[in-house]
Amino acid sequence: MRFDIFTIFPGIFQGPFDESIIKRAIAAELVDIQIHDIREHGMGRHRSVDDTPYGGGPGMVMAAPPLFDSVGSVLGDALGTLPVILTSASGDPFTQVIAEELSLEPRIAILCGRYEGIDQRVRDHLVTREISIGDYVLTGGELAAAVMVDAITRLIPGVIDSESLAEESHTAGLLEYPHYTRPNEYRGWTVPDILLSGHHAKIAEWRMKQATELTRQRRPDLLDKLNHHLKDL
Ligand code: SAM
Repeated sequence: MRFDIFTIFPGIFQGPFDESIIKRAIAAELVDIQIHDIREHGMGRHRSVDDTPYGGGPGMVMAAPPLFDSVGSVLGDALGTLPVILTSASGDPFTQVIAEELSLEPRIAILCGRYEGIDQRVRDHLVTREISIGDYVLTGGELAAAVMVDAITRLIPGVIDSESLAEESHTAGLLEYPHYTRPNEYRGWTVPDILLSGHHAKIAEWRMKQATELTRQRRPDLLDKLNHHLKDL
């Protein structure tokens, strides 16, 4: 799978993709992450990428031409056939379901906004979907892009053990059950007996109960969603 990320701050991506699982996925050629500097298609002598907003108001707006030129030069004929995602505080909330959907794509482009935002014509005529990583405002879309690439990449077959994926938070609509490892007693705190019993069916039942209870306490909205989904089946 290939990601093309468009940004005016390529340096931000030094780090998130250079360690651990993503680094190994790149080395194993399971994923290819290309970072493109929008400024290479900046306007005029100063390679400017922004301008003041029509109608007045605070801040600057990312201009349409550098974005269209940058994305067009990289995607070429593929433009129109693949998702072009804009990181946006007003986009669809990013979820595990969206990550799963996107992990099936062979190639995805992600645009990182900056300043007050992006000229509306980019949103209307270049972008296919806007995605938000949460109800807060970031200074730019780079960290949001890194979050999405991380969540999508770990779902690509071969990147991590498929058994790990199957039982995680959000995979089955519940939060994950608690984990313990050695030592079985630490500072007087012990591991639940059931996990030491070797009784796999009982352990599975305990984990399901824990996951359901944790979800009920912390995210009752997820339980409601799951119940609706089950009723619809
Ligand atoms: N004025 C914009 C608004 O009210 O929605 C916020 C602009 S923000 C300072 C600059 C850029 O950061 C946005 O264009 C977007 O690309 C990115 N961004 C900010 N918050 C985000 C979020 N919650 N999820 C994804 N991207 C975000």
